[in-house]
Amino acid sequence: MAHTDTSSEETIALFQKYVIPNYRRYPIALVKGEGSTVWDAEGNRYLDFFPGWGCNILGYSPERVVRAIQEQAATLIHVPNTWYIEAQGRFAEALCTRSFGKAFFCNSGAEANEGAIKLARMHTPAGKYKIITFENGFHGRTFAAVTATAQPKYHEGISPLLPGFLYAPHNDLKAVKELVDDETCAILIEPVQGEGGVNIPSVEFLQGLRDLCDERGLLLIFDEVQTCMGRTGNWFGYQTFGVQPDIMTLAKGVAGGVACGAIICKDEIAPSLRPGMHASTFGGNPIAMAAGIATVETIEEDGLLDNVQVMSERFRAHFEALKAELPIIDEVRVCGMMVGVELTTNAMPVVGKCMEKGLLVNATHDTVVRLLPALNVTAEDVDEGCEILSGVLRQMAAEA
Ligand SMILES: *Cc1c(COP(=O)(O)O)cnc(C)c1O
Repeated sequence: MAHTDTSSEETIALFQKYVIPNYRRYPIALVKGEGSTVWDAEGNRYLDFFPGWGCNILGYSPERVVRAIQEQAATLIHVPNTWYIEAQGRFAEALCTRSFGKAFFCNSGAEANEGAIKLARMHTPAGKYKIITFENGFHGRTFAAVTATAQPKYHEGISPLLPGFLYAPHNDLKAVKELVDDETCAILIEPVQGEGGVNIPSVEFLQGLRDLCDERGLLLIFDEVQTCMGRTGNWFGYQTFGVQPDIMTLAKGVAGGVACGAIICKDEIAPSLRPGMHASTFGGNPIAMAAGIATVETIEEDGLLDNVQVMSERFRAHFEALKAELPIIDEVRVCGMMVGVELTTNAMPVVGKCMEKGLLVNATHDTVVRLLPALNVTAEDVDEGCEILSGVLRQMAAEA
């Protein structure tokens, strides 16, 4: 199914001529998707355990989101933030009644983090500007966000970086305490590190950060770009750990695969993002807002938070059993629909080998096979994909 008249090869030729080659891409053009399944231009089918790099939280082309976009596009495509539109108010309501505070909308994760960093500096007294972030974190590619991203590989050739960022080892409260001084304004952390390899902190660590922020008058900012919208089994990652931030940033799956980012902050912080100091032309546009509302409705009406819990345990059972069998699996880390399988060897070859067998997965941080399955992944999908991945890892173990 899903043949188009243009082959993958022809599309690749267009890219070679006209698209800046800043991405390493697989030599495949995708043309159509449904649920956790996607097809390429040649009609090959793939089961996708990493749909849309975590953005397609409801899988490909979820019905309610498609319908909401179609209806919205036929009525109003764009309205700037000099007017009110109901959809922005409704989506803000949907997010904030499931979390806290008030929302600001933008278009991406990096943009949400940029805004949160500005907000933190504007809200705290003059002279406080330092922000503590964590080793192996990831916050995006714009200048403040990439500076907040501690990994040196993302800083090559672009200095000077933005002043005022300090990096602490993950899950090490004592190290964080040593970095705090009178110029510190905030601590920024992912509730679960995604790109850094699905690193799950202890509740005590996150609670320790909360207490430290309260004692020293700092803002606690959670980058929930990857952990939002049910990814961890609760609406937001902070709820999985029971530690509430002052500010959180959302993107990736927040509007079911449509470009959208957001900042949520406590009511008392909101006035610091005052008129004239921050804006985003496309932020909160009708299409993204309609898609976001439909995403919330789908998660709720289809009981997807429960599905995440069930499928999460199913993934865990598959990989724990495999770990007992294969010494090349060092650790299995699962938090809702975030799965990291840490290998004792390079995980990059796993991606290509799985793709040949019709399964799409990601490898990150050199040795981690990472899955960000859709929240509506089925038991059949989980079993089929784990079967393929197990076969690939068994073969690699045999060859090692
Ligand atoms: C993907 C990601 C970002 C960056 O989001 P963009 O939309 O690519 O700017 C920031 N933080 C986290 C935790 C992410 O996973």
